[in-house]
Amino acid sequence: MEHKKVSVLGVSFENKTKGTILKELMKRIQNNKKTFVVTANPEIVMYAKKHPSYMSLVKEADYVVADGIGIIKGSRMLGTPIVERVAGYDLMISLLAEANRQGSRVYLLGAKEDVLQSTVKRVQERYPAIQIVGARNGYFDLSDTSVIDQVQQTKPDMVFVAIGYPRQEKWIHQYLQSASKGLLMGVGGSFDVLSGKSKRSPKIFIQLNAEWLYRLIRQPYRIKRMMALPHFLHEVRQEKKNIRDKQS
Ligand code: UDP
Repeated sequence: MEHKKVSVLGVSFENKTKGTILKELMKRIQNNKKTFVVTANPEIVMYAKKHPSYMSLVKEADYVVADGIGIIKGSRMLGTPIVERVAGYDLMISLLAEANRQGSRVYLLGAKEDVLQSTVKRVQERYPAIQIVGARNGYFDLSDTSVIDQVQQTKPDMVFVAIGYPRQEKWIHQYLQSASKGLLMGVGGSFDVLSGKSKRSPKIFIQLNAEWLYRLIRQPYRIKRMMALPHFLHEVRQEKKNIRDKQS
């Protein structure tokens, strides 16, 4: 039987194609349902495992999508394969394309001011029917709740929050406690890519599922963060062993 959700180290992932997820998300927006989307890679899963308060935020999300080939590998190792990888950046681009079709209200929150301004420009050029109802850079204090009020006043259908994890999920959770509608999604460094400031990997790296390698070559200082992947795979092997022990 195919599982609709697949648990990997305590995080419950959607086991659906990007197309299906996109349809469901757009339907929720049409119905004015609040929606919290987390795009989780191995680094985020490991962080959640170490930080129970962050794990409980992730558990409250309506959708957790498998961002990164590591999650897919882990799900296969556990014998419950997830159908496909849904990269956060790709999902954001698909949502923007849908927003353009429907003339949706979009708020862009995050990144440095110059990156944000170029992102706004790019979105306006590429998706002219989108109503950009607001944009704000990501350098504010989480305790400053006026940012939540400012965004809510613009009544956005979609808010992309590009301030990096775990802050973006904390902020989204706070926002949704008082919001009546809206899809909110943490998109990490996606504005840097969308604005053209940092390049996404060349196609060949994407096809070989080796975006992590390209990133490592360009930003060697990320090595420490990237060590999350071998740790993650080690933990998955442990979990598999525990499951097997329980069954025998
Ligand atoms: N950022 C921000 N506010 C902060 C710290 C970071 O808006 O206080 C932005 C930063 O400019 C970058 C993004 O958040 O655009 C973080 O990107 P990163 O690739 O580190 O995201 P992660 O993969 O950690 O979620």
